[in-house]
Amino acid sequence: MTTQSPMAARSSGTASAAERVPAWNEPVIRVRGVGVERSALLEKLGIRTVGDLLLHRPRRYEDRRKLVSIRDMELGVPVTVAGTVVASGVKWYQQRRKSVFEFVLDDGTGRLHCRWWNVPQMARAFAVGDTVLVFGKPNSVRPRQMDHPETERYESEDDPRVHLNRIVPIHALTEGLSGRVMRTLMWNAVMEFAGATPVLEPDLVPTVAADGKPWPTREQAVRDLHFPAEIDDSKRARERFALEEFLDLQLAIQRRRRNLESKAQPAPCAGDNRFMRPFLSGLGFRLTAAQTRVLKEIRADLGGPVPMRRLLQGDVGSGKTIVAACAALMALEGGFDVAVMAPTEILAMQLAAHFRRWLSPLGIPVVLRAGGRVETGDVVAKAGAPGVVVGTQALVQAGVEFERLGLVIIDEQHKFGVSQREELVRKGRFPHLLVMTATPIPRTLGLTLYGDLDVSLLDQLPEGRQVIRTHVRDEEALPKVWAFVKKELEAGRQAYVVCPRVAESENEDVRAVKRELGRVREALAPAVVEMVHGQMDAESRDSAMTAFREGRVAVLVATQVIEVGVDVPNASVIVILSAELFGLAQLHQLRGRVGRGSAASHCILVAREEKEASSERLRVIAETRDGFALAEADLKLRGPGEFLGQDQSGMPALRFGDLLNDGDLVRLARDLAREHLRGGGK
Ligand code: ADP
Ligand code: MG
Repeated sequence: MTTQSPMAARSSGTASAAERVPAWNEPVIRVRGVGVERSALLEKLGIRTVGDLLLHRPRRYEDRRKLVSIRDMELGVPVTVAGTVVASGVKWYQQRRKSVFEFVLDDGTGRLHCRWWNVPQMARAFAVGDTVLVFGKPNSVRPRQMDHPETERYESEDDPRVHLNRIVPIHALTEGLSGRVMRTLMWNAVMEFAGATPVLEPDLVPTVAADGKPWPTREQAVRDLHFPAEIDDSKRARERFALEEFLDLQLAIQRRRRNLESKAQPAPCAGDNRFMRPFLSGLGFRLTAAQTRVLKEIRADLGGPVPMRRLLQGDVGSGKTIVAACAALMALEGGFDVAVMAPTEILAMQLAAHFRRWLSPLGIPVVLRAGGRVETGDVVAKAGAPGVVVGTQALVQAGVEFERLGLVIIDEQHKFGVSQREELVRKGRFPHLLVMTATPIPRTLGLTLYGDLDVSLLDQLPEGRQVIRTHVRDEEALPKVWAFVKKELEAGRQAYVVCPRVAESENEDVRAVKRELGRVREALAPAVVEMVHGQMDAESRDSAMTAFREGRVAVLVATQVIEVGVDVPNASVIVILSAELFGLAQLHQLRGRVGRGSAASHCILVAREEKEASSERLRVIAETRDGFALAEADLKLRGPGEFLGQDQSGMPALRFGDLLNDGDLVRLARDLAREHLRGGGK
C-alpha cells in the first residue's frame, strides 16, 4: 500500500485566477459533506468560507503510516494494521440500553478484536469480508484487542485514505464535530478547492527558501498543511503561511512609515545647546558613553528630513530619563513644545518633578496634567516661549491642543497600546517621537511591535552602581527578613515592601497591602511605614510618594504601581511578598527600584511556600541580572499575549506565525517588504 497525496489524486490549476477567488470565498456549505448543521458547527470555529476551512490549521499530526502485522503488535503501542473482517456483531445488555459492537480482523498473521461501546450503528458500516485499516493502541495482546480504534474501509490499493495509513492531521474541534468528520470534510475541501487558492497580491514569497529548497506554492501549502506526504512538508506549509502573515504585518508597518516620511515636514529640533550646556554641567555626573551615543542618534533624527520614530530601550536604572530630558532640551532650543507621557499618575508626577528640578533653573515651564489636574509649577509660561507638558493618557484623551508640538516622549511604552501611540502622534503635525521602555523586548517581538521604530540601546549602567543581590526565601524566614530590613533602616536606608494585591480576599493567603501595612509597622517599629496602591486617591498617593522620596517615610508598602520608573536612590532593600505570583519581567522591574544609589542593595523574594521558593522561575530571576535574558525566559514561560499584557491590543492574532521561534521569518519578511517598497511597490 502506498501513501496517497491529495496532490496526485486530482489535478488542479485548471481554474483561471478570476474563477479561483470566488470559490475560495464562498460559504463553507459548498464543501461536500457540509450541510446547514455542520456549517453552524464550523462557524463556532470561526470557519465561514471554504478558504477559512482550508486555512484551519491542524493542531498536530499523527503518523499513521507504519503498517504492522497483527502478530507483531505490542501492548499500548499505537499502530496501523490492515486486514479482512472475519466476524462481526453487536451484543446488547442492560435491557438493550448498552451495546458493544465488535469485529475481528485477520491479516494472515493473527487476529485482532476491535470493540466499540454504544455505537451499534457501526454494524451497518462493516460486514464480514470487508477490507479495513485500523489505527489504535492495543489494550490487550492476549487476546489481541483494541477499543474504539480509528477505522477505514478500503476496496482497492489506490483508494484515497483519509484517516489511516498516512500522516493524518489532528484539527481543533468543537462539540458535535468529531475529528473524523472534520478530517473528511477537510479532505473533500482540499480535493475540490485547493486549486482555488488565491494567489497573493503582491506575492513577495521568494521561490527558494534560505535552505535552498523551494517554498511551496500557496496551493501546494494548502494541501501539505492537511495531508502532507512527509512531516517536513507540513512544516514548510506552516512556514509559508507564517511568512505571509509576517509580510502582511511588515508591509503595513513600513507603508505607514513611508507614508509619514512622504508627507511630514518635521520640526527642526536639533537645538543649539544653549539649554543643554548649562544642564549638563549642573548635573553633578557625567553621561555614560551609552547615553552620549544615544543622544547623538537622537540629535541626528531631530535635525533630519523625516520625523524621528525612535525606541529607546534600556534596562532599569540605565538612565533613560536624563536622555529624555536632553532630547526635550533640543526641541525646546528649537522653539518647540514637548509632551511627555507616562502610563500612570504616579509616574507622571514623578517625571514632572524630575523635569522641574532640571528645567526650572533654565526658566522652562513644566506643566503636569494628570487625573484631571493641571499644575503649572513655579515657572510660568511666557507667551510664545516653549514648554513641557507631562501627563498620562489624559493628554491624549482630553484632546489637548499643541500648537508647536515638536517632540512627544512616551515613557515606559509597554503600558501603552500601539493604537494609543498612533493616536498621540497624530496630534500636532507629525512631531518627533521618542518611546522609552525598560521592558526589554525580545528581538522578534520588537521587529513586529516596533517594526516602524528605529532602536537605540542604553546598554550600560552609570558607574558606581552597586550590584543588587537577590535572595529567595519562604514565609517561614520572614522574621529574619524583617531583622535584615531593620538593620538597613538603622543605617539610614529606605525600603519597599511589595504585595500582589491591595486587599485580601477571603479564601486566599496572597499578601495584600492593606493587611501587611499593620504587620510591617509592627515588625519594623519604630520606622515610619506608609502605603501606596492603585485604589488610593491621587492626593494621598502623591503625598505618600513625596514623603518617601524626601525620606520622611522609611518604608513604603506598595503594589506593583511602583513597578516602573519610581526613583528613590536611598532605597536599598525591596521585599516582594507572594513573589511567585509575579512575572519574571515584573520582578525584574520591581528589583530595579533599588540599586539606584551608591549603597549595596538587596531584593528579597518571599514565596509563600518552600516548594515555590525553590522553583525554577525564582531561581532564574535570582541568578539573572540581564533584563533581556529574563524577558526571553518570560516570553517562553508565558507566551507573547501574556507577556505583552492586555493593553497590547494592537497586536494582531497570528494563526501560523510564532513570534517566539520564527525570528528568521520575521527578519525575512521585513527585508522582503522593504525591498518591495523601495522598488516602488505599493
Ligand atoms: P531608568 O529610567 O532608565 O530606569 P533613570 O533615568 O531613572 O533610569 O536613572 C536612574 C538613576 O540614575 C537616577 O537617579 C539618575 O539620576 C541616575 N543617573 C542617570 N544617568 C546617570 C549617569 N550618567 N551617572 C550617574 N547617575 C546617573
Ligand atoms: Mg525610568
